[in-house]
Amino acid sequence: AEEVGGGDKEVVREYFNSTGFERWRKIYGETDEVNRVQKDIRVGHAKTVEKTMLMLTEEGSLDGVTVCDAGCGTGLLSIPLAKEGAIVSASDISAAMAKQQLGGENLPRFEVNDLESLSGKYNTVVCLDVLIHYPQNKADGMIAHLASLAEKRVILSFAPKTFYYDILKRIGELFPGPSKATRAYLHAEADVERALGKVGWKISKRGLITTQFYFSRLIEAVPM
Ligand code: SAM
Repeated sequence: AEEVGGGDKEVVREYFNSTGFERWRKIYGETDEVNRVQKDIRVGHAKTVEKTMLMLTEEGSLDGVTVCDAGCGTGLLSIPLAKEGAIVSASDISAAMAKQQLGGENLPRFEVNDLESLSGKYNTVVCLDVLIHYPQNKADGMIAHLASLAEKRVILSFAPKTFYYDILKRIGELFPGPSKATRAYLHAEADVERALGKVGWKISKRGLITTQFYFSRLIEAVPM
């Protein structure tokens, strides 16, 4: 697998094992210990998970379907996938995030792993809200690698560059502080489309999720 270059990945790993873990554990949790902005992001993210589940299930039952949830965080997508009968391989670069996952009936298989190191073949590969941590030149390789793991479809979400100026202001409130780890990268849909195209994949479905402080472009891609 192509290595995601130097700094970014180590900084992201460190962030999600420390301050980022605390922040996102709260946002992805259920308690009231969140501020207004975090609450809004929680709602937006829940919509992304819901839309992803819809995109997946409208193509047929997930029973017995292999799904790779790359950068699974606290497992908010992996759990409903497993409930639908999918055989879920969930992994995250952060040990702290991966340890947060809840139990369930048909348990997903969770592991600590960066997505660049994943191998094997899955019917479906999903990667939600991970690309925001990487600039497009790194994202290209990540997208290519995710596509190489997938047989039928890839589902990705990312913060769309269309809302650049609008979002920039809000990101300031969202990720305060000087730490490089807190940088958020926006991606132009055309750039993601081009990265997929280079490895023989095309976008087949598009969705957009917006709340006041959360913007996410959701796409499904299939082999050309
Ligand atoms: N996908 C989850 C969800 O939607 O609930 C979590 C999204 S969270 C904003 C981003 C996650 O990506 C974090 O848990 C972080 O540790 C993980 N991550 C960042 N870079 C990664 C990489 N290179 N490989 C695997 N996971 C990564």
